[in-house]
Amino acid sequence: METTKITGRECDALDIQHTTLLVIGSGAAGMSAAVAARRAAGRSGKSCSITLLERNARPGTKIRISGGGKCNVTHRGAPAELLEKGYLRQNEKRFLRHALYGFANTDLLDLLHSHGVETEERADGKIFPSSGDASSVVLAFEKLLRESLVRQLFSCRVRSVERQGKRFLVTTAAGASFTADVVLLATGGVSYSRTGTTGDGLAIARSLGHSIKNPSPALAPLYTLKPSAAALSGIALRSVTLVASAGGRSVERRGDLLFTHRGFSGPAALSLSRDIGELAKSIGNVSLFVDLFPEQSAPELEEQFLFQARKSGAQMVRKYLQRCPMALLRGAFTLAPHGTLPTALLPFIMRQAALENDVTWSGLVREKRLSLLAVLKRFPLGSVREVPLDQGEVSAGGVSLSEVNPNTMQSRIVPKLFLCGELLDYAGEIGGFNLQAAFSTGWIAGTHAIDC
Ligand SMILES: Cc1cc2nc3c(=O)[nH]c(=O)nc-3n(C[C@H](O)[C@H](O)[C@H](O)COP(=O)(O)OP(=O)(O)OC[C@H]3O[C@@H](n4cnc5c(N)ncnc54)[C@H](O)[C@@H]3O)c2cc1C
Repeated sequence: METTKITGRECDALDIQHTTLLVIGSGAAGMSAAVAARRAAGRSGKSCSITLLERNARPGTKIRISGGGKCNVTHRGAPAELLEKGYLRQNEKRFLRHALYGFANTDLLDLLHSHGVETEERADGKIFPSSGDASSVVLAFEKLLRESLVRQLFSCRVRSVERQGKRFLVTTAAGASFTADVVLLATGGVSYSRTGTTGDGLAIARSLGHSIKNPSPALAPLYTLKPSAAALSGIALRSVTLVASAGGRSVERRGDLLFTHRGFSGPAALSLSRDIGELAKSIGNVSLFVDLFPEQSAPELEEQFLFQARKSGAQMVRKYLQRCPMALLRGAFTLAPHGTLPTALLPFIMRQAALENDVTWSGLVREKRLSLLAVLKRFPLGSVREVPLDQGEVSAGGVSLSEVNPNTMQSRIVPKLFLCGELLDYAGEIGGFNLQAAFSTGWIAGTHAIDC
């Protein structure tokens, strides 16, 4: 069998070609699935043809932009730890367990290392290619696909998949048709639609009888109704707790927080965006606050202030706050080993607490001290009404997990249809969890697609 790579018009000209396994989508999940399928075929001595259709002109578009172009490909730890740290919901954890054990981060790293991608692990557990170049991961998979004799067709946007007797009929937007014994849908989520993920796979899955949970934002920046002052844009708060409240409910996340010109980004904002999006949808305006001293209760912080007042009554409170460590940093999602309040934020804190800029400890009467404590523990950041779906690193929602067998990724509705990757109704945390989930579910799907 030959390795073929066909692009553009050549693909449009193809008509009714048969393939054993047709994979739709050449992202992390689809590429992993095609490679795994060839290996499974090799083990069982089965002869089969594998075709991979991709609407873009080249594979792995999202991998190339992942991790700011550096690709946080996976995360350190045993599968059980990844399931915990990945901030998955209970049903998502149950669903992904088999895939993450079946094709673990160590399996992915072995595959990459054996195909020329050295990796390095950061102190927070995130793993990246040592080259700092996300495209090295795609190059390794392109090599794997060539070795796996996978026929790759680019600029081929699949429009429909129909069951015809024992086979599938797959038609592209340009009118080319294929028949396949097995179809594997790996078309991704719906965010960053310019990368090719516009939800085609969800429409296809729905047309085949699957239920779809409406896509919703996750790992997205927060755009506040009234953006923070321009002077704050770009400043980062280390290891704080971001709190979001609406209608008496509140959610919170610890991590670094970045002020942007439209609102907030950084690990804490991205991580909490899924919950905030849900709150906003069900309740309306969501108010944001930050606890700037998350490791100290208000009484503990007050004790510290009283001590300081006794020691240095003439010291300006603002000067003290500028040098006072906010937290002993721990946890995975921080950018630096310690943090102090950024100088640019102090005038806003003082104003919010109704304190003069030059107030000293001895001038800080009880009422003012309580006001300062209240602001430091719950500094208001404005409110959001919705979270931008397209700006999310991933989208939550997708094909209902209860309709897919987690041990094989085969549809429980349509025999010989396999589904994997972000197309499915799960969304993980930043830190390499989403690419790992895509590679793992893809691998399991590809392995079983050949055996069915
Ligand atoms: C900016 C950004 C940064 C990110 N950084 C990280 C990170 O560092 N670490 C991490 O773990 N995750 C990261 N993610 C998330 C991660 O990239 C995705 O979760 C993962 O790539 C999903 O893989 P997938 O194969 O399921 O889908 P995708 O990678 O989206 O692949 C789906 C493919 O299907 C193709 N397709 C869609 N419809 C059709 C059709 N009709 N016909 C043919 N082809 C079709 C698409 O063009 C696409 O190539 C990031 C995401 C973004 C947007």
